[in-house]
Amino acid sequence: MFNWLNDKTTENVRRVVSGESQRIGIPCLAMFGIECPHCLRARRLYAERHDDEASSIYKKKFFVCYAFILSDQYEDYSRRVTLFQMPVNVTDKIVRKMHPKAPNSWGDAVDPEKGYTLIIEKTSGSDGRTQYDVDKGKPMSITKLWSKYKEEIMDIHDQALLSYMLVSNQIQIFQPRFEMKENETIEIRMLPCKNENKYPISYLFFHWNVTQLREDEIAFECKYKVDCIRKKLEAEADYQESSDIIHEDEEIEL
Ligand SMILES: [Zn+2]
Repeated sequence: MFNWLNDKTTENVRRVVSGESQRIGIPCLAMFGIECPHCLRARRLYAERHDDEASSIYKKKFFVCYAFILSDQYEDYSRRVTLFQMPVNVTDKIVRKMHPKAPNSWGDAVDPEKGYTLIIEKTSGSDGRTQYDVDKGKPMSITKLWSKYKEEIMDIHDQALLSYMLVSNQIQIFQPRFEMKENETIEIRMLPCKNENKYPISYLFFHWNVTQLREDEIAFECKYKVDCIRKKLEAEADYQESSDIIHEDEEIEL
């Protein structure tokens, strides 16, 4: 548990998905209410005008939502509800297009009854960099399914719990940059947030190009807060009962 805090050997947390090791970066400890040493270092570098180095290690946003993956080419995910990493520009476009006052507004994609699918395309731009685009797909009601899945999914706005679940491999995530090939399209049906008053897309902060924290860099206060988080996670009775996520015998090793 929380072994990403004191793993001194790996440069970035890696997860094994479909037999392949994937880099997901290091969660920003600010999401756990802890002063984050990587953020501090980046801020110091910005203050000293080392902007390139600072921006390479500064926290990066990582958008997530829940979705049904409707395309059949992804064995592990097809036709199942899954956590989905939404590419940044796709998130921007959806947010703009879903706005009721937008010209030719697409309407609310996640509405259980009136929602619709989204078609995400991965292409290689003229400069060779990967690009993503999104289009409105077909209407798809999920009214019946939603009452079932609402109970099963977690609140994506609980950043501490979600990043813990991700780095400890207890939740699967579909990441287009790893899963999709160039010039491939995928059809998804975004789900509302478990708490329907909240936005269906949330975000996490991860650091890239940083090494794991050394044990001696973790202050006493940090240990204390991680312990509080562990207690909070253990108290998430719903998750314990439904999927046996937190094991009694797990200890934090710091
Ligand atoms: Zn940070």
